[in-house]
Amino acid sequence: MRAIQNYINGKSAAANGGRAGRVYNPNTGSQQAEVAFSAARDVDAAVAAAVAAFPAWAATNPQRRARVMFAFKQLVEKNMDELAHLLSSEHGKVIADSKGDIQRGLEVIEFACGIPHALKGEYTEGAGPGIDVYSMRQPLGVCAGITPFNFPAMIPMWMFGVAIATGNTFILKPSEKDPSVPVRLAELMMEAGAPVGVLNVVHGDKEAVDAIIAHPDIKAISFVGSSDIAHYIYSHGTANHKRVQAMGGAKNHGIIMPDADMDQAVKDLVGAAYGSAGERCMALPVVVPVGKQTADELRERLLPEIEKLKVGISTDADAQYGPVVSSAHKQKVEDYIALGAKEGAELVRDGRNFTLQGYEEGFFIGPTLFDNVKTDMRTYQEEIFGPVLQIVRAESFEEALALPSQHQYGNGVAIFTRNGRAAREFASRVNVGMVGINVPIPVPVAYHTFGGWKRSAFGDTNQHGMEGVKFFTKVKTITARWPEGMTDDSSFVIPTMR
Ligand code: NAD
Repeated sequence: MRAIQNYINGKSAAANGGRAGRVYNPNTGSQQAEVAFSAARDVDAAVAAAVAAFPAWAATNPQRRARVMFAFKQLVEKNMDELAHLLSSEHGKVIADSKGDIQRGLEVIEFACGIPHALKGEYTEGAGPGIDVYSMRQPLGVCAGITPFNFPAMIPMWMFGVAIATGNTFILKPSEKDPSVPVRLAELMMEAGAPVGVLNVVHGDKEAVDAIIAHPDIKAISFVGSSDIAHYIYSHGTANHKRVQAMGGAKNHGIIMPDADMDQAVKDLVGAAYGSAGERCMALPVVVPVGKQTADELRERLLPEIEKLKVGISTDADAQYGPVVSSAHKQKVEDYIALGAKEGAELVRDGRNFTLQGYEEGFFIGPTLFDNVKTDMRTYQEEIFGPVLQIVRAESFEEALALPSQHQYGNGVAIFTRNGRAAREFASRVNVGMVGINVPIPVPVAYHTFGGWKRSAFGDTNQHGMEGVKFFTKVKTITARWPEGMTDDSSFVIPTMR
C-alpha cells in the first residue's frame, strides 16, 4: 500500500499521530493509499523548519522570490499530465477538470510572479516641514493553510503562492482525502529554488489542525472548507492572536429572468450544477426562474440536456463528470435526495441507484433534478455538495433577489438576463460576495480577489489579489525627519499638521 508522508524541511517525514486515513480511488471504490496523521510534535517539527527558513527568505529580494514563482509555474506546467492524473485518481473529477483545478492555482502563481510591484509601499514627501512618511509591507513569519478536498491544487496555491511570494514561510495541512498533489507541489517548489523549510506539508485531521491553532509561532491561518469548521478555526485562531481568514460552505443561486437567452442559460446551468459532480463551492445548485412561463420552459429544456449527460470514470475523455469523493459523501448526498422527496419537493430526476458497468463499487451518483423546492425545506437551506439541481420558482425580480440575499450562505450568485439595468440593480443590491452576470461560475481572476459573505466566510480579508497580499503582510509606517540647525524645544502637545 502506497504511504503518503509529511514533507518537512525539503524531505519526507513520518507522522507520529499513530492514526492513518484511507485514500480511495473514487472510480473503483477501493483504497489506493494510506496517509499517516500528524500529532502536535509533527506540527512542531514543520514549524521549526519554517521558523529557521524565515529570516533568510524574508530578506531575499522580492524579484528573486518572484523568480522562484516563475520556475515553479514552469515545473507545474511540465508536470501537468502527471499531476492531473494523480489529482483525478484521488478526487474523482475528470482529467480536463483536474487540469482546470491546477491551472486556476497557477494563475495565482502568475499573480505572485508580479509580487515586487504589489509590495511597493506608499511615500509622501513633505508630509510636514522636512518630514517624509512612507510605508512598507513586511511578511508575518510562519503562516499556515488548511484546505478542503474539492480543489487540492488550486486552493493550496491560492494560499502558499501569495504567502511565500510576500516573504513568509508556510505549513500546508491539506485534505486527508486527496493529499498527494499538495505534496508534489511542495516538492516542485523546492525544485524551483525555494529554500528548504519555506513550504512544508503536514497531513492529518483535527489533531493536526488544533496543533496549528495552538502553535505560538504560527502567525496566520488561511482556511477553506465547510462553515462549521471555518467558524471553529476563525474563533479559536483569533482567540490565539492569529490572523485568520476562513472560507466556508455555499449554496449559489442562478436567477433566470424572463428575457434571458434560454439556450445559453440552460447550457451554462447544466455545466455549473453537475460539473465536478457538484463538488464546487461555486457550483450552481439552485436555479430561480422568474415567472411560471420561464420556469416551465427552463424545466422542459433542462431535462433533455440532463438526460444527455455522460457520467464516467475520471479518465474517460467523454465523461462530463466522475464519482464523488467518498462512499460517506455519496451516502450523504443520497440521503439529501431522499429528504428532498420527503419534504415535498418534486423529484423530477433521481440520480440514486446509478451504477457504471465495470465500476459498480465506484462512488457515482446520477444527475438529479428537483422542482418546486421551497425555502423552508432543509434541502434548500443546507449545502448538498453533489450533482443535485434544485428549481425554486419565484414570481418576481424582487422575490428572486431576496432568495440568495436571505440565504445563510453568500458565496456566489448569478443572474441571466439581457437587461443591463436589471443586472446592474441585482449586482448592487444582492447580499452575496461574488456575482456573475450571464456568467454561471463567477470565480474572480487571480489578480482580483475571492471571498463570500455571511456564513461563506469568516474574517474580512479575501483570498489572492491585493487582498491576499494584505492578509499575508503587515504594514509598517515610517515618519522621518532629518533636522538641521537649531534644536527644537520639547513639545508636550500631540503633533499635528496645522
Ligand atoms: P471540511 O470542512 O470537511 O474539511 C476542510 C479541512 O478541515 C480539511 O483539511 C479537514 O482535514 C479539516 N477538518 C475537518 N474536520 C475538522 C475538525 N473537526 N476540526 C478541525 N479541522 C477539521 O471540508 P471538505 O469536505 O474537505 O470540503 C468541502 C467544503 O468546503 C464545502 O462546504 C465547500 O463549500 C467548502 N469550500 C468552500 C470554498 C470557499 O472558498 N468558500 C472553496 C472550496 C470548498
